Amino acid sequence: MFYSAEQIAARVAELGAQIARDYAGQPVVLVCVLKGSFVFTADLCRAIDGNVRIEFLGVQSYGEGTETSGQVQITQDLTRPIEGEHVLLVEDIVDTGLTIAHLLDLFRTRKPASLKVCALLHKPSRTRIEVPIDYLGFTIEDKFVVGYGLDFAQRYRNLPFIGIVEHA
Ligand code: 5GP
Repeated sequence: MFYSAEQIAARVAELGAQIARDYAGQPVVLVCVLKGSFVFTADLCRAIDGNVRIEFLGVQSYGEGTETSGQVQITQDLTRPIEGEHVLLVEDIVDTGLTIAHLLDLFRTRKPASLKVCALLHKPSRTRIEVPIDYLGFTIEDKFVVGYGLDFAQRYRNLPFIGIVEHA
């Protein structure tokens, strides 16, 4: 499995156009879930011809190696309240779904006008909890991917493409 910079850019442009159409000029708060989605968010926000505000959410999920534990800790919160705002959570990848499920629960308590999810990648075979993904880049098989913001032990985030790490 491999997505080139060009393939990613084409898909991100489509997602941005779809988001711009759907929000139709209404202000939207893009919440970049750190660290993995910083590259995706940077490209996505520029593909949205609309009224966009960016917020960053620091999230750490404790787990062993490449597995999530489902225990999500907020390491950096938003700078402003989101009550009454249209909020779009921007995630790099939905794997088990535990992180997004947790964030949706948390954000709902803050009473946004709407709350949606945009994920670049989804591994449906790994689902442990079903979460709605309103905007999805690519559905992928159960392989550990890196690049375009995604890391392995904090490395490879800077790769302009998405590829698989072969474990030695
Ligand atoms: P979930 O809570 O959905 O299981 O996991 C979400 C988080 O796990 C992602 O935001 C990402 O940080 C990490 N993750 C899941 N699968 C992969 C993968 O294939 N590659 C990388 N680099 N991170 C992943």
